[in-house]
Amino acid sequence: MNRKPFRYLFAFSIACIGFIGVPQFTLAKETQLTQVLITNVNIFDGNDEKLATGLNLLVEGNKIKKISQTAIKTHAEATVLDGQGKTLTPGLIDMHQHIMLTGGTQAGTYEYDAYTQGARGYKAMIDNLLMRGVTTIRDIAGNTLGLARAIRAGLLPGPRIYTSGPALSTTGGHGDWGSYNDQIGQKDYQELVFNTVIADGRAEVLKAARQNFRNGASFIKVMAGGGVASQYDPLEMSGYTFEELKAIVQVAEDYESYVTVHAYHDRSYNRAMDAGVKMFEHGFLISEDTVKRMKKEGAIFSFQPFGGYTMFGGSFPDWFTPNMIKKGKRVHQGTARVAKWMKQHDVFMVLGSDMFGDDSKYAIDNVIAPVTIPGAGYTSFDCMKMSTGNAGKVLAMSGPARDYYKEAKLGVIEEGAWADLLIYEGNPVENIKIIREDNNLKLIMKDGVIYKNTL
Ligand SMILES: [Zn+2]
Repeated sequence: MNRKPFRYLFAFSIACIGFIGVPQFTLAKETQLTQVLITNVNIFDGNDEKLATGLNLLVEGNKIKKISQTAIKTHAEATVLDGQGKTLTPGLIDMHQHIMLTGGTQAGTYEYDAYTQGARGYKAMIDNLLMRGVTTIRDIAGNTLGLARAIRAGLLPGPRIYTSGPALSTTGGHGDWGSYNDQIGQKDYQELVFNTVIADGRAEVLKAARQNFRNGASFIKVMAGGGVASQYDPLEMSGYTFEELKAIVQVAEDYESYVTVHAYHDRSYNRAMDAGVKMFEHGFLISEDTVKRMKKEGAIFSFQPFGGYTMFGGSFPDWFTPNMIKKGKRVHQGTARVAKWMKQHDVFMVLGSDMFGDDSKYAIDNVIAPVTIPGAGYTSFDCMKMSTGNAGKVLAMSGPARDYYKEAKLGVIEEGAWADLLIYEGNPVENIKIIREDNNLKLIMKDGVIYKNTL
């Protein structure tokens, strides 16, 4: 007979007795917030290429309390860490994740149920993201609405999640993951578990966008054109009419939030800009004229260089069908060109890895990928700024009702900001490639809690 469960139960009971037995005097002392003092670090603040050197930084509770060149006073129980002259940066922010879609859009229908997919996604998010320095993700298709809420409530450890919930897609669009046997209007399994939502026409898109905000979405993601990792949508198609896009933008504005669109080519990008969309994903087949228009109108580009350039230029995930591989190869051809124009015309940019569940093992490679594109002109500083300071600004666009972390800033190191920070051996602002080696990441702190410390 296996006695292990009983042993666990016994240990758990002892732990509970310990917890219940001690508390009176510990609770009395808890009025004072925990403090962590980090001495002697060079700081990248998320925006400025030049590091501020030889600083001390005090975290109190879950915020950065003080940054100073002179000694900082702490209370007697403060944890003191010697930063040894290493580089302190904001926690990394991945602006394009699909944490619930491990194994691609079909695995959650034909291989595993939603519970198992959720467990796999959660594990990937801890191992591949939080424990490698990604302290915030923007999840932009897939049902992370409840998970985002549980992390906010402190029920589970994890990176902060800004989620769109299910992306809106037309029938046959990039978010249509059903089968050829589906009847018109019939919900497929991925719709039933709220990983995607098919909505056609003004009335349906209004309802779908409002349903997402009702369930806690921080912004709206729209499949406004064909994509790579899906079955029915050629890259050339546009996903929504002008009137439908306009209606979705209206709902987002009613919540003081914003819309971001998935699309690859000029017609979809320009139609979305006409309708008031502020943010754009992918775009690797657009023209230079469209890039110039984006700059002129202050549109934001969310850049996925690892997928577009590195992965689609080499080996594809094993769940890609021949049709998906064909589309990926076309996207690869446009990536370097569009990446170069975006840099040349100085479009405001953030980085997102566009990884599906456990493919998030490539998230750090995505932060490095811009400098690996020959002739595109990106520096290590660009990679870090897109993943910290710039990303923090976009997250705040979710507005007062749907930015759940609005109480402080994300993506920066400054007094009053959330205490999400990393310490690296070496300087990633000078050489971004050092972040690939996990041994160089010495400290991970999110929300004032230390998740890794090898200082
Ligand atoms: Zn995506």
